[in-house]
Amino acid sequence: MIEIFTGGGSMVYPVLSRRLGGISIGINTAPQKSCNFACLYCEVDFSQGAGLFKFDIDEADSLLRKAIPDAQRGRFGDAPIKAITLSGDGEPTALRDFEGVVRRVIATRDEFGLTGAKIVVISNASGLHRETVRRGLALMDGNNGELWAKLDAGTEDHFKLVAQTRVPFRRILDNLLTASQERPTLIQTCLTCIDGQMPSTDELGAYADRINHILANGGQVQAIQLYTIARLPTDTKGHNLSSLTEDQLNQVAQRLQPGIAVPIEVYD
Ligand code: SF4
Repeated sequence: MIEIFTGGGSMVYPVLSRRLGGISIGINTAPQKSCNFACLYCEVDFSQGAGLFKFDIDEADSLLRKAIPDAQRGRFGDAPIKAITLSGDGEPTALRDFEGVVRRVIATRDEFGLTGAKIVVISNASGLHRETVRRGLALMDGNNGELWAKLDAGTEDHFKLVAQTRVPFRRILDNLLTASQERPTLIQTCLTCIDGQMPSTDELGAYADRINHILANGGQVQAIQLYTIARLPTDTKGHNLSSLTEDQLNQVAQRLQPGIAVPIEVYD
């Protein structure tokens, strides 16, 4: 059984991560449940408990200090702790003091002798331009950090449909370019069937163009991870959403891969 460490509004949750090959200790940086995206595929139920809590780094840190020894005691067999991950029910790059949170998490990780465990930030890329985020990412660069950033679309129309946000697509693209010029960045792309339609050939072509634009301008894309929904989304805004099969995901990867010079990995 997975133990979720909670206190106040904070939540720290160790999970076995196939992508990381071991334990990832997640820190929910948005217990207030709010996000500047409203992705059709999102599993967070923003209608329940929104605004009740505020992220508190002292609380989160004290839970992390319980979760680390618990994971080390063998809750997941002999799986090693591979990462401490900032994500959760909203967008970590919206944190007021992102840099301070990163600094604290690094300090605790190091105190437990886990310098080999990565500090991973899972982001929708909307706040990567913020000064506190840029400083926090720079801190991560020297401390075994990794940025996993979302790009779910190639065209503006598809972006607006999937992300349901007022954040301009241009900002996401600019942020991905700037962040990846400064560090290798892993791009995560969630693909779904929307109202029975797979992403079109034009959409996939535009997506490949976006990635290639980043690469042509000095962006370092570590890899692209394609995945699909595993659980029912909470609010599809009236659209009919379904997951792709593993075969369909592999077909998309095979279609994209010859035109993109970075590894494309599929996670079902
Ligand atoms: S960015 Fe993440 S948390 Fe925000 S709506 Fe999309 S999937 Fe949900």
